Amino acid sequence: MSTLSVIATPIGNLEDITLRALETLKKSDLVLCEDTRVTKKLFSRHSIASRTLSYHAHSKLSRTEEVIQLLKEGKNIALVSDAGTPGISDPGSELVRHIRESLMTEIAAGTIKIEAIPGPSALTAALSIAGVPCADFIFLGFLPHKKGRQTLFKEIADSERTVVFYESPHRIMKTLEVLGKEEGEKLREGIPDLGAVGQRQSGNTFTKRVTVCRELTKIFEEVVSGTPKEVLDYFNSHPDKVRGEFVVIVSDK
Ligand code: SAM
Repeated sequence: MSTLSVIATPIGNLEDITLRALETLKKSDLVLCEDTRVTKKLFSRHSIASRTLSYHAHSKLSRTEEVIQLLKEGKNIALVSDAGTPGISDPGSELVRHIRESLMTEIAAGTIKIEAIPGPSALTAALSIAGVPCADFIFLGFLPHKKGRQTLFKEIADSERTVVFYESPHRIMKTLEVLGKEEGEKLREGIPDLGAVGQRQSGNTFTKRVTVCRELTKIFEEVVSGTPKEVLDYFNSHPDKVRGEFVVIVSDK
C-alpha cells in the first residue's frame, strides 16, 4: 500500500508541527513542496533529510502523472505547502483532486490512501484568538484583486456570519478603508445612536467589528480589533506594522 500524506506545516513558528507530521515527513520517499527552499528550513530545524520536489499551482500535468506513477509503484509521498494546511488558499487541492480521480479504483481497493495530517492554518489560528462568534463563518481566502472585489465588500458588510479572509500587506490599508466606507461611516452618518458595536439594526444597517490578526505565531504577532476606522487609524499611526501576513475577520460583535 502507498500513501499520499497531506501534511500541515507551521505558519511561522517552526516548532508548530505535530509528532505525526515529523514522523511521516522523515519516512516519506518524496516530499512535494510549494517552494523547496522554504521546506528545507523546516527540514533543517527538525533534521529531516527526505527528498523534495517542487509542486506548485503551475506544475505541468507531467509532474502530476509522475506522482501518480510513484504512488502506483508503492512509494509514500508527502505534500506540504510553504505554510499551514495545503489546499487552504495555496496549491495542493488540484493535485489531490487529480489523484483522487485518477486512482479511484486503487483508493476504493485500499491499495492507495490519501491521508490528512492536520495542524496549523492561519484561518483557525486567527479565529481561535480573535474572540468573535465563529460557530459558523464564511472563509473567502484571498479576495479577488479587481473583478468582483467591490461586490464582495458589500456582501461582507451585509453578512450575518463572521467573514474571514487573507490579505496582503500591499492591500490591507485599502481594504480597511473600503470596509470603513462600506459600513462604519454609513452608520455614523445615518443613525445617531447605534448602541453597542455588533448590535444588529433593522434592515441591512449594522455595525461591524474588524479584527486583524498579523504575523501569527511569529515574534511580532498582533491582534488589532475595533471598527474599521479604528483599525485603519491604528495602522495609519503605526506604518511600520503594515507588513507581514494578515488575516482579516469581520464580525458582528
Ligand atoms: N495554507 C495556509 C494556511 O493554511 O493558512 C495559507 C496560505 S496563503 C498562500 C498565505 C496567506 O495566509 C498569507 O498571505 C496570510 O494572509 C495568511 N497567513 C499565513 N501565515 C500567516 C501568519 N503567520 N499570520 C497571519 N496570516 C498568515
